[in-house]
Amino acid sequence: MKVKNRKFGILGMARSGISVATKIDELGGIAFISEYKDETEIINSKQIKQSFRCEFGGHTEKLLQNDILILSPGIPRNIPILQQAEKQNIEVISEIEFSFRIKHHHSKIIAITGSNGKSTTVSLIHHILLTAGHNSILAGNIGTAFSSYPIENGDIDFIVLELSSFQLELIDTFKPDVAAILNITPDHLDRYKSFEDYAKTKFNIFKNQNFHDLAILNLDDTVSAKFIDKVHFNLKYFSNNSKADINYKENSIYTGSKKFSIKKASIQGPHNIANMMCAILAVSPYNIEKVIIQKSLKTFSPLAHRMEFVTEINGIKFYNDSKATNTDSVKYALQSFNSPIRIIMGGAGKGEDYRILIPYLQNRAKKVYLTGDTIDEMKEAFEMIKEIESIKDFEDVIKKAFSDSSPGDIIVLSPACTSYDKFKNFEERGNTFKEIVSRLKK
Ligand code: ADP
Repeated sequence: MKVKNRKFGILGMARSGISVATKIDELGGIAFISEYKDETEIINSKQIKQSFRCEFGGHTEKLLQNDILILSPGIPRNIPILQQAEKQNIEVISEIEFSFRIKHHHSKIIAITGSNGKSTTVSLIHHILLTAGHNSILAGNIGTAFSSYPIENGDIDFIVLELSSFQLELIDTFKPDVAAILNITPDHLDRYKSFEDYAKTKFNIFKNQNFHDLAILNLDDTVSAKFIDKVHFNLKYFSNNSKADINYKENSIYTGSKKFSIKKASIQGPHNIANMMCAILAVSPYNIEKVIIQKSLKTFSPLAHRMEFVTEINGIKFYNDSKATNTDSVKYALQSFNSPIRIIMGGAGKGEDYRILIPYLQNRAKKVYLTGDTIDEMKEAFEMIKEIESIKDFEDVIKKAFSDSSPGDIIVLSPACTSYDKFKNFEERGNTFKEIVSRLKK
């Protein structure tokens, strides 16, 4: 795509907006950033004003003076200015689409989406590629914008992308060499008209692929299975079923004639077996030696805030699963231990039906502790759970779970909700949990 001397209007001044504006600038284009928040609410506003043409406090018609608009993820597509842009035939794309259009043809793209397991899986794929000696970058929803790397130069071998459903909304020509959907379970129902709408958005990841590319799906995921006929080309499956292209049985992952032992893998549990199968399949077109993959499964550093072991105090173990922001991830947390769990749940809700957790809580939870904005909603949903207590304050709820515990108990923060009721993000919530626990230890 030609960038030089073209005018780009960017909606949103968060990380990807600033990154794309910087790239446009570098490539000789003209960037204009528009932000609906007031200047006072934007941390680096002074610096941004010095570097770019921009506006604050709303998206005005100035945006319509541009050749292309780039929309940051999270900004609704039905806002009036975008309707006006459509009338004037101004193209609206996402930062992912823009970056794809400018990237060098040498760099392969491995893109992963799903409701849960994205960050873990892309990080593992990136780790395998680096271990194999490739120049790989990790970008997208994981925290670093795709456009923030020198993607227009040909020296990057692999771009491993974590893509949220929001990032898959406005893609047009984006075509990954390898694309996978890990699973599709209820999430972001506050943003989509229906669950089907959300699921369809995820399938956009395969939209432009052809026979040269690889598509990967999870045969054990009932929702993905329903959409399978939409993928007509080179499709491979991972599953616990031995008929899949890659499958799992008794501590080993099998694909073709290869066998990978996962006994010493750094991540464990049924959800991580699925993530490992997906990662191994994702790198399968690139002739990486078996020993390299086997070694990578062992040397991979597990990500913080995902079933992260924190510490043990008087025989009581603490786990931080702050990234569990929907019910499906909590299901896996509850299935990850043999001992009964004291689970701390709640935060800001996303319109999910929490009742689907009832059988898992009944089987696995010694006691449920509710906190945050969703207390009333969850209390109603878990009416039939006997051992349950609500404590609004985050520190108090952790202290109470601890004082109720005896040696051998496990305390897990696995909220099934976002953190935005009290925290900036899931990292801040997880770190606060760890700080409170370390104070208990003292
Ligand atoms: P994402 O980037 O999709 O949010 P993460 O790897 O950050 O995924 O994990 C988010 C939460 O989901 C954590 O609580 C983690 O334990 C859980 N999880 C990880 N992989 C899976 C999976 N394949 N299926 C269900 N839950 C998972």
